[in-house]
Amino acid sequence: MQKYWGALLVVILLASCKEEKPTPETPVLADIQKNEELHETREYGFNLNDFRVHQDTVRKGDSFGELMMEHKVEYPKIYKISQEYRDTFDVRKLRAGRPYLVLKTKDTSEIAQVFIYQNDPINYTVIDFRDSAVAYKNQRDVKYVEREASGVIETSLSDAILAQNIDYYITHELSEIYAWTIDFFRLQKGDKFKVVYKEKYINDTIYAGSEPIEAAYFEHNGTPLYAFAYENDSLKNIVDYFDDEANNLRRTFLRAPVKFSRISSRYNLRRRIRYYGYRVRPHKGTDYAAPIGTPIMATADGTVTESTRKGGNGKYVKIRHNGTYSTQYLHMRKQNVKRGDFVRQGDVIGWIGMTGNTGGPHVCYRFWRNGRQVDPLREKLPAAEPLAEELRPDYFEFIDPKKKQLDCIEFQQQPTEELITFNP
Ligand SMILES: [Zn+2]
Repeated sequence: MQKYWGALLVVILLASCKEEKPTPETPVLADIQKNEELHETREYGFNLNDFRVHQDTVRKGDSFGELMMEHKVEYPKIYKISQEYRDTFDVRKLRAGRPYLVLKTKDTSEIAQVFIYQNDPINYTVIDFRDSAVAYKNQRDVKYVEREASGVIETSLSDAILAQNIDYYITHELSEIYAWTIDFFRLQKGDKFKVVYKEKYINDTIYAGSEPIEAAYFEHNGTPLYAFAYENDSLKNIVDYFDDEANNLRRTFLRAPVKFSRISSRYNLRRRIRYYGYRVRPHKGTDYAAPIGTPIMATADGTVTESTRKGGNGKYVKIRHNGTYSTQYLHMRKQNVKRGDFVRQGDVIGWIGMTGNTGGPHVCYRFWRNGRQVDPLREKLPAAEPLAEELRPDYFEFIDPKKKQLDCIEFQQQPTEELITFNP
C-alpha cells in the first residue's frame, strides 16, 4: 500500500508541473517568418517601401555633416540639426561601427529624406529632413520572452551555461547573486543550477539581451539554495535576492574595521608626500587612527589567507571573503588569527599597533575587488537589508509560484563525448 502512495504522489507532482507550466512563448518559426514579412516594410515607424534605402555603418572619421551632404541634404538643415537638437542627437558623437539607414527619395534625385541612427539594438534616433528638419529618439518594439534554463557543471559554470545556449550575461548574474553564499572559484563537478529570466527580442526575432534573473536555484556540494528577485523597498526601487526563507543573499561589510576611530588618511591615488619630495605616492588603503591596543575586526566573514609580518606592512592579516572581495589590515601590534582560520564579521583579528612603516598608531585597511585595490568608501557594497517583517507574507505569496516553477525544471545534462559517439 505504501508503495502505491509513493507512486501516486509522483504522478500528482508531475501532473502539477505540467499544468502549471506556462505555455511557452518562444516565437516559433512560422511566427518569425510571418513577422519578417510584416516588418520588412514597416520599420522605425516608416514604410521602407516608400524609399530607396541606404544601409551602412559609421566608419572611423565619418562626420554627420559630410555624410548628409553626400546624400544631398541642404546645408542649412544639417546646421539646424547640429545647433537645435544637440540634446537629442549630438552630431559630434557618431560612434564608429553603429549602423544607420538613409531613406532617400525613390526618384532619380535620390535626396535623403530621413536619417536613422542606431544608438544600440533597441534605441534609435530619427532625423527627418522632409520639412523643417527635426530629430527625435525612439525605441524598437521589444518583446519579453520568459526562458527557463538549467545545467549540471562538468568543467565550469560558463561551459555549462554555454552548452545550454544561454547568454553569458546569465553566468555573470548568477555569480553576482550568489557571490556571498557560494565561492564561484571553488565550484564542484556535479553542482547544478536552474534559472528563470526574460530574453528581449526586437520585432520578435532579433535577440537583444536578457533581463536580470527572476528566480534561481543553485545546488553546490549537494546544498540547495534558492534565490528570488524581490523589490525590497518599492520607494527606492531596490531589488534584492532572497532565499526561500526570506533571508537576504547578500552580506554587507562593516563600515570600518575599528570602532570609535577616525579616518586619518583616505584612499588616494594622487597622494603626494613631502618626505618623498612631493612625488606621487598612491595610498591604496584607508587609515583608521586609534589608540594602541584597540581591537581590529574582520569587516565580513571569510578565511584568513595571510597572517604574517612583512616590511612596511608590519604585522598584518589578509582575509578572503569570496571570489570577489578580499581585505587586509596593516601595522598591527599583534594578530589574533592565523592562516586558514575562518572568521566571522566582527571577530577581533588583531590590535592596533605601529609595526612597519607608520607615523602613528593606526590600521591601514585595504580592500580588493576582483584582484584590484579599490576605495571601499566609494564602492557600492552589497547592502544586506533584511526583509521587513510586514513584507514577509507578500514575499512568500510572491515566490510560491516561482518556486514551483523552478522545482519543475528538469536538469539538462551537458552532452558528453560518449553520447556523441553513439550518433551515426
Ligand atoms: Zn594606509
